[in-house]
Amino acid sequence: MNLPVKYRPRKFTDVVNQEHVVRTLQNALRLGPERLGQAYLFTGPRGVGKTTIARLLAMALNCERGPAEEPCGECENCRSIAQGASLDVIEIDGASNRGIDEIRNIKEQIRFPPAYSRFKIYIIDEVHMLTTEAFNALLKTLEEPPSYLVFMFATTDPQRIPRTVLSRVQRFDLRPIGVHDIVDRLTAVAEAEGIPVEPEAMKALSEHSEGSLRDALVMLEQLWVYSGGTITRRDVLNLLGVVEKDFYRQLFVHLKDRDAAGALRHLDSLLARGYTPEDFTRGLIGFLSELMRAKMGLSEDEEAARIANAFPKEDLLAYANIAFDLESSLRYRINPRAWAEHAVLRMALLPSAVDIERALAGSSEILANDIAKPMSVPIRKKKAQDEAKPQPQDEALRKLIETFKLEEIEDELWTDEGRDGP
Ligand SMILES: [Zn+2]
Repeated sequence: MNLPVKYRPRKFTDVVNQEHVVRTLQNALRLGPERLGQAYLFTGPRGVGKTTIARLLAMALNCERGPAEEPCGECENCRSIAQGASLDVIEIDGASNRGIDEIRNIKEQIRFPPAYSRFKIYIIDEVHMLTTEAFNALLKTLEEPPSYLVFMFATTDPQRIPRTVLSRVQRFDLRPIGVHDIVDRLTAVAEAEGIPVEPEAMKALSEHSEGSLRDALVMLEQLWVYSGGTITRRDVLNLLGVVEKDFYRQLFVHLKDRDAAGALRHLDSLLARGYTPEDFTRGLIGFLSELMRAKMGLSEDEEAARIANAFPKEDLLAYANIAFDLESSLRYRINPRAWAEHAVLRMALLPSAVDIERALAGSSEILANDIAKPMSVPIRKKKAQDEAKPQPQDEALRKLIETFKLEEIEDELWTDEGRDGP
């Protein structure tokens, strides 16, 4: 069984969350041939329906009862296109057919009119992968296509398509699919297939699919096999490596306390449960985004607001920078665990914007504060005392120094540790 294929929309009305695209296409189909283009570009993130819509448009154009706003889905042409078996609708993967030779091949074929249908249609997926030479060869055809020829391009990365090509296509930008829409669609599929799923599991699965309905359906299928019964929220989190929010709540307690050892132990406990540094990082970025939104008053999550309010926004921003650094470091796949530990240490030992503020204001609070905490960093105290003296009156200057010192202190912290360390 292959759920994404089995439940691929057979009609425009079944397409989820792309009404803006569907309406325009259906209007053109209704108004007749002169409104129909000969080159279309569908852009959008993965799994939102780009090739599905291209295929539906191909069906609508070549339907024996069309061109129609909605393909009948029953005639020979509709059925063969749906099965990917139509001789007049050719699907090409741009990633593996990216060279000039493949495009020359296509140009050779398009000299012959369609065999059984109104239009000869080429659907090129991941079209941004074509080489410059291939695009140039394609361009000549796009400038003067035979009347029976239609190109449909799909891409996740429209910026990589030459401007000359972009100017000759009708472009449709597809949206990521919202969590609610994915929940609705998954629920319908699960019911039709008799797959028992807890509502909470459905929500977690939908959130994790990042707007891709195809990914969500693939995961639903995997989970069905994995759980062997009712799919629970715990199944989803385990299989997908989703770290529970409780983990991050506790991590932020350690960060608030500047408890580096506690934060490291907490990370260890997560990795010991089989989660990867990548799982940790993905969750951390998500959690920080929630905190930032809460900090800006854009979230109704009271728990997030409570945690966010315990930190100055400068600290949250600095944590986010560290998390994004970690994400890019992990791409090299060298020592992922060490990178994750390094990031946790950086967060726990980061000089707080509040401390620096106080230091600049000449407050003695910081000293008392540091003495009270065994995990505080000596260099921070020393610097803080040094910085306690100057008190520039000018607000802009003060801000500038504040920003500058924040980085300087952090840099010194690490160079000093490096020098003393093994
Ligand atoms: Zn039909």
